[in-house]
This record gives sequence, C-alpha cells and structure tokens, in this order.
Amino acid sequence: EKAHIGVTGLATMGRNLARNFARRGHRVAVHNRRAERTDNLIEHFSGEGDFVPTYSLSELVQALERPRRLVIMVKAGPPTDEVVDELAPLLDSGDVLVDAGNAHFEDTRRRQAALAERGLHFVGSGVSGGEEGALEGPSIMPGGSQQAYGELEPFLSGIAADVDGTPCVAHIGPDGAGHFVKMVHNGIEYSDMQLIGEAYDLLRHAVGKEPAEIAEIFRRWNTGRLDSYLIEITAEVLAHTDAHTGKPFVDVVLDQAEQKGTGRWTVQGALELGSPVSGIAEAVFARSLSGHADLREASRGLPGPTGTRLASTDIDGFVDDIEQALYASKIVAYAQGFNQIQAGSAEYGWNVDLGSVATIWRGGCIIRAKFLDRIRAAYESDPQLPTLLTDRSFQRALNEAQDPWRRVVSRATSMGIPVPGFSTSLAYYDALRAKRLPAALVQAQRDYFGAHTYRRADIDGVFHTEWSDDRSEYEV
Ligand code: NDP
Repeated sequence: EKAHIGVTGLATMGRNLARNFARRGHRVAVHNRRAERTDNLIEHFSGEGDFVPTYSLSELVQALERPRRLVIMVKAGPPTDEVVDELAPLLDSGDVLVDAGNAHFEDTRRRQAALAERGLHFVGSGVSGGEEGALEGPSIMPGGSQQAYGELEPFLSGIAADVDGTPCVAHIGPDGAGHFVKMVHNGIEYSDMQLIGEAYDLLRHAVGKEPAEIAEIFRRWNTGRLDSYLIEITAEVLAHTDAHTGKPFVDVVLDQAEQKGTGRWTVQGALELGSPVSGIAEAVFARSLSGHADLREASRGLPGPTGTRLASTDIDGFVDDIEQALYASKIVAYAQGFNQIQAGSAEYGWNVDLGSVATIWRGGCIIRAKFLDRIRAAYESDPQLPTLLTDRSFQRALNEAQDPWRRVVSRATSMGIPVPGFSTSLAYYDALRAKRLPAALVQAQRDYFGAHTYRRADIDGVFHTEWSDDRSEYEV
C-alpha cells in the first residue's frame, strides 16, 4: 500500500509534522538527507503510527500514492531549492509539493511559477507553533492554487490546531500569499514581545516590583483581554529562579535579543509596499540595539533624568495604566500588520481574507490569543475595514486607554525608561487621527529644493512655486 503523504526533512519541525500526520491515521513516507534522522524517527516513534522510511528522494516519491502529496521541511533558502530541484523531475503532473519551511514569499513566488510550468502544484505554507505546535497542532497558512489546497485540506485540517471546532488552517491565496502572511505573523510576534518587554521594564523600574511579583501581574492580566500564549510564557519566565545563583532567571540572561530574520523581512517588505508598520520596525530595531554591546557600553555614562520612583499611592493606578498602554499598543501592532497583509494582497492580487487570517491565528501559533476573536469579528462585520483602529469595539478600547497610554509614555520618558513600542504606537494613533500633518511642510520643502511640486488642499492640480525667483505659483 502506498503512503498518503510524504515528509522530507526530519529535523525538529519535520519529524513532529510527520508524527502529527501519522497520529491522525495517515500512512506517512519519511525521508531525510542524512539517514540517521530517518532511522531515529522510526526507532523512537514507529509505535505512534504507520511510517514508511525511505532513503532517497526517488524512493520517497515511489512510496507515495498519486497525485502525490509531499511536504518539504528543510532549512529555508538554498537548501529548499536543492531539494525542489532534485524532486521536480521525479514528480508527475498534478502532484502537490508543499514547502512548509520559513521561505521568503518572493522565493515561493519564483518556485511556484517554475513548477507550474511543469504541471506541478507548489504550495508555500507558513507553519507556526514551533516544535510543540508541529506535533500537537500548528497554525497553517498555505498559499497556492485552489486545486492544490483541495488535495491537502483533509490532511492539513486534521493536524492543525483546533479552536472551538474550527481548524487553524485556511487557503490564504495564490503563490506567495501563505508565506507572506506567515512573515507578517512573525513581525507581529516581534511587536507583541517587545511591548510585553516594555511593560515588564516599567513594572520593574518605574514601579519597582520584583520579577516574581511581576509574574503575578502578568498571570492576572492573562485572565482578561490580554489572555495569550506570550503573556502566559512571560509569567512563567518571570517566576523562574536560576538554579545556579538563586537569582530571578530574567536577571542572569544576557540582555541581547537575537533574531533569525523574519521580522527584518516584514519590515523590508513593508518599506517596499510603503506600509507603515512602525511598531514592528521598532521591535526589530530594539533587538538590534540590544545586540550592540560596544555602543551601549560607550554610552553608559550619558546623563539621565533626575526623576524618582512613583509615589506609593500612585502604584496601583500606574500598574493599571500599563495594562491599558499594552493593550492599546497591541491593537496598533495588529492594525499595522493586517494593513500590511491588505497592501501585499492588493499588490500581488491575492485577495486575502483578513477575517480568515485572524481565525487561523487563534490557535497553534505563537501569537495565539483571545484578542484574535475580536479581530475576526471586526473583519466579519466589515471586510473592507480600513484599519482595525476604527472597528467599534477597538475604538471603545482605545477611547478608554488613551489617557493611561499617554501617562505611561510621558512617565517613562520623564524617567528615562525607553518605550519605543509604546511611544511609536501612540504616535501612529495620533498621526492617523490628526486633521493636518506636518507633511504639508515637508512637501513644501521638497518643492523648494527639488521642484518636486505639490498638490493644494483647496484646488485640484499639481503646482510649483518659483522659490528662487518671484515666488509665483504655476500649475504644472
Ligand atoms: P532546520 O532549519 O535546522 O533544518 C534542518 C533540516 O534541513 C535537516 O533535516 C537537514 O538535513 C535539512 N537540510 C539542510 N540543508 C539541506 C540540503 N541542502 N538538502 C537537503 N536537506 C537539507 O530544521 P527545523 O526543523 O528547525 O526547521 C525546518 C524548517 O521549518 C525551516 O525552514 C524553519 O525555518 C522552519 N520553521 C522552524 C520553526 C522552529 O521553531 N524551529 C518554526 C516554524 C518554521 P540533515 O539532517 O541531513 O542535515
């Protein structure tokens, strides 16, 4: 009997995806470049289901029923191309090849187009949830043809996370749509983490709480509207004590955050699209800044404010203010991310359903949160919503949050505690609200030095002023 689905690349993610398929009753052909991983999977997990070990890509292809469904889970970048190039001549028209790694969406577009010429379906699929998600139920974001999705759907909906009976998988759109949405997911994840980091920093250094007390505050927040995986693990980390020193664990970790690059891709992509994801950008830059040890060391002697801690009577109120600032900034981060998806969808003609993106992010993935139900509801009631900020329920939340949010940003600033995420989110909110922006002056400056012209607010047309002459205006 042939296998129903195949997986090549049996490192952490691929092995767990293969196990997940097998646990759902599928016969799974497995392959890895180095045979050890294949043997290891069979040795340890063959009892979980029906695996077919194979030791070459041609053997893998031969083991599969047709049309073939084959998942690639190898290191993103050139290794994926190597595997795709070796597989393509072995496959037959109508076969479905899934790249479930973290590919850049432009690479996925290129691969999809090349394989389509050979009559093969290429599906670039985002998978989020890390090691545990891959095994227990990830959030899956496949992009590719509708027909290919039809072939995969019964398999993917079986292994995906499940929220209230709805699997966390949906056809995102053609070619690179799935990997694009996964990329923005990771960008939002950077934002979420940075904002939580800032809330912690304020609780620690403005309010003066200890990590164990802050863990309790996050636990409490996790029972309310901030309920999410990232808040939950934050409480766990803050409550943890280092075994070597007996100090709070967070105090012994080097304060330099690393990155693998999907946050950077999100910002690069946003710059190309002209999509202002300032919260995500600040989160990516905050990680870069943290890594510049020399620069930080050289700057340590720079003067800071002479401010003191909060008065003890203000403490409880300020803790609540921080919760409000965190929630409001989170709304902005998601609003920016969803707008970037909207912009990408328009640019590439993907027709992405934003409500369905929110739906499949409710479980399995790193940014899973109660909050996403609200986003889903927002796009369900108005699929054309220009920004989440104007959704009725978010507008109410922002209305309530804005004063505390301003207090938090101004208090942090006067105490010299950096809150790039909170402050850029607030600036975004205020800029969108503003009746007039100083962009008028910027455009006038551009016309002054570069004759870049301007439009008037009162009369149609494009104009230029003769700045170096008599300053008369003419229409160009
Ligand atoms: P790695 O990214 O560490 O990749 C290791 C796997 O790639 C091994 O199976 C390795 O084979 C294979 N490989 C590397 N180079 C080649 C090549 N030239 N030809 C064939 N195979 C090759 O594994 P992960 O499981 O961590 O991740 C797999 C994919 O999933 C990546 O694209 C990653 O970005 C993505 N991802 C990872 C997540 C995570 O939490 N780790 C979360 C979501 C997505 P060998 O054993 O022979 O060296």
